[in-house]
Amino acid sequence: MNDRPYKPNLSTKSEKKSELPDYVTSIGKDQYKIDLTSPKIQGVGGFPCPKCGTTISPDDESEDIYTILDTKVKDDQLAEVILQCNNCGSKLTLTGFLEYPEKEEKK
Ligand SMILES: [Zn+2]
Repeated sequence: MNDRPYKPNLSTKSEKKSELPDYVTSIGKDQYKIDLTSPKIQGVGGFPCPKCGTTISPDDESEDIYTILDTKVKDDQLAEVILQCNNCGSKLTLTGFLEYPEKEEKK
């Protein structure tokens, strides 16, 4: 029963996979997925680029900070936006637009 080879635990150092915030998922080299439904982003109007820290605001349409590479629309609603940070060249996939509530005036 107890014949499993002993696996030495090599990760003695504090496991530090990444320092990414919880709304960021690394999906490849210099590619990140940003979940816009995170309360840390909602209402803030932007987020720092996971790599270089440049503030990226989805409402900024000037494309000085980033370039939109692709958008995916589902049921006439924005589902995904793929953009590239102009500062460091990282590809960022923004998701969570569908859950993004219409701008409602809270009273
Ligand atoms: Zn960047």
